[in-house]
Amino acid sequence: MPTIAVCPGSFDPPTEGHINIIERAVKLFDKIIVAVAVNSSKQCLLSTDERVSLLKTLFKGRRNIAIDSFEDRLLVDYVRDKKATAVIRGLRTIQDYDYEFQMALANKKLAPEVETVFMMTDSDYSFVSSSIIREIIRLGGSGKGIVPAIAEKLLKQKLGGH
Ligand code: ADP
Repeated sequence: MPTIAVCPGSFDPPTEGHINIIERAVKLFDKIIVAVAVNSSKQCLLSTDERVSLLKTLFKGRRNIAIDSFEDRLLVDYVRDKKATAVIRGLRTIQDYDYEFQMALANKKLAPEVETVFMMTDSDYSFVSSSIIREIIRLGGSGKGIVPAIAEKLLKQKLGGH
């Protein structure tokens, strides 16, 4: 049986930090499904289609990296549907840890057979988050090295960064 892991997130936008985690995770599993989690109570800058399309472009031609989205449903139900056995999450800060620990325990209760695998951020990207990048671009800063160029371009169109 091929080992499959789901890498869920908002990806609003996908950053170099996300890419780093996905590229490392794909070495541990036969297939990674990068899943844009759409939550009707969470407001995003980019549409679901835009986020999926950016990820598809970034991982074009990668046989073992699939891009998908799921809306308003439990992550563990999605993971089971995809016949995956693990959820990949990245950790940057203590704040991430508190939240992720709680989510992992809740998911374990709901689906004991699904493992959450945590990957420590690369030190180059420990400060990188989608929200910080949106702010940098909005205020006219450069996203070089922290956000892929295609994502930066789209953000500039949306936010009018100079
Ligand atoms: P969510 O809203 O689910 O937290 P994000 O798109 O913000 O979605 O993040 C998706 C996943 O990627 C999370 O596990 C997050 O911790 C991880 N992640 C985001 N940025 C980084 C980074 N710079 N280094 C490591 N992991 C990261």
